[in-house]
Amino acid sequence: MKLFEELESEVRSYCRSFPTVFTKAVGAKMWDEDNKEYIDFFSGAGALNYGHNDPKMKSKLVDYILADGITHSLDKATTAKGEFLTAFNETILKPRNLNYKVMFPGPTGTNTVESALKLARKVTGRPDIISFTNGFHGMTIGSLSVTGNSFKRKGAGIPLHNVVTMPYDSFVSDKLDTLEYLERFLEDRGSGVAIPAAMILETVQGEGGINAASYEWLQRIEKICKRWGILSIVDDVQAGIGRTGTFFSFEKAGITPDIVCLSKSIGGMGLPLALTLIRPDLDIWAPGEHNGTFRGNNHAFITATAALSYWEDPKFEQSIAEKSKKTKAYLEKIVQDYPEIKGHFRGRGLMVGICSEVEGLASKVAAEAFKRGLIMETSGPDDEVFKLFPALTIDNETLEKGFNILEQSVRAVIG
Ligand code: PMP
Repeated sequence: MKLFEELESEVRSYCRSFPTVFTKAVGAKMWDEDNKEYIDFFSGAGALNYGHNDPKMKSKLVDYILADGITHSLDKATTAKGEFLTAFNETILKPRNLNYKVMFPGPTGTNTVESALKLARKVTGRPDIISFTNGFHGMTIGSLSVTGNSFKRKGAGIPLHNVVTMPYDSFVSDKLDTLEYLERFLEDRGSGVAIPAAMILETVQGEGGINAASYEWLQRIEKICKRWGILSIVDDVQAGIGRTGTFFSFEKAGITPDIVCLSKSIGGMGLPLALTLIRPDLDIWAPGEHNGTFRGNNHAFITATAALSYWEDPKFEQSIAEKSKKTKAYLEKIVQDYPEIKGHFRGRGLMVGICSEVEGLASKVAAEAFKRGLIMETSGPDDEVFKLFPALTIDNETLEKGFNILEQSVRAVIG
């Protein structure tokens, strides 16, 4: 099997974890060039929440291409864009009583984060941003500066400034209430702590180890932001689009961020699309002040609009809730049946994992699972978490089969 090593930069990573050449994918399954079948519990790190090649999205896209629909348009008005904006407003924003202007910041997750940080600084005139330990927001300089991962930060080659990293919720013990400390610093105007422009966070940290912040912690963050005129940015690039059970990950916490970052599964079928949702009064951009060649990919608009139709049916959320319950039960059973892994369940909805205290175990299990036909990732600062992201649309049989492979892999690794 040829993996093109001599042609591609050393920076490649996923092809090392999954050393094969993939050829085909449907729903929650992938095949490689030897026609070996894999169950996909990776789902493009959250970019394939609706699975691979969803039939409805695929046929809409094929029809659009065959009808010579516009492919590239910069941000000119196109019917594909208009239909997407209308559907997003009618199906997603209005039923949730949300009022945001939609900005297309560039094709991918890091672009929406960059635009959010930039806008927050422009609106407030303040330089600093508060971010959180183990947060992940992207690989360009701005988004990397708020990413709490020292290995990734080293990739910048320079110090990254104007960011204060605070402990994320799960790091707050009963004795150390860091948000209270923050409030005291903000109150003490002699403290030298500048009021930041914004706080940026994930409600469940994906790359950082499937850490789910409590609703109460998120509500406290919102309160602090409101009190001090700090803008709240929720990065829903990975936790959004149904991954945690609701379209936006913050819905059940009852908070309304000032700015929301969306990408990954918003494109529906893995096509690049990113949205920055902006509280209307914050939309102070001058025309052209933030532009880019690939803002608003028309093919992605077509598949994204088709994807939104899932959300017209309340049964979709119910089905995610049912699968989430089963998933949690499978994982808790593994934790219980294999005390050797010293594990515990983490996550919310179908954004889940097992954190193991045994060093290196999660990576070994992922490698074993791959051999047995299951694709999964590890996450967390020491890769200590088995990260499991089944497609939201996965059928129960495949879900069960995937967890059986996981269980067999755990058993094989602990011997
Ligand atoms: N924010 C979060 C929460 C992410 O998980 C990611 C990607 N893993 C990004 C931003 C960056 O997205 P992209 O890789 O598309 O630039």
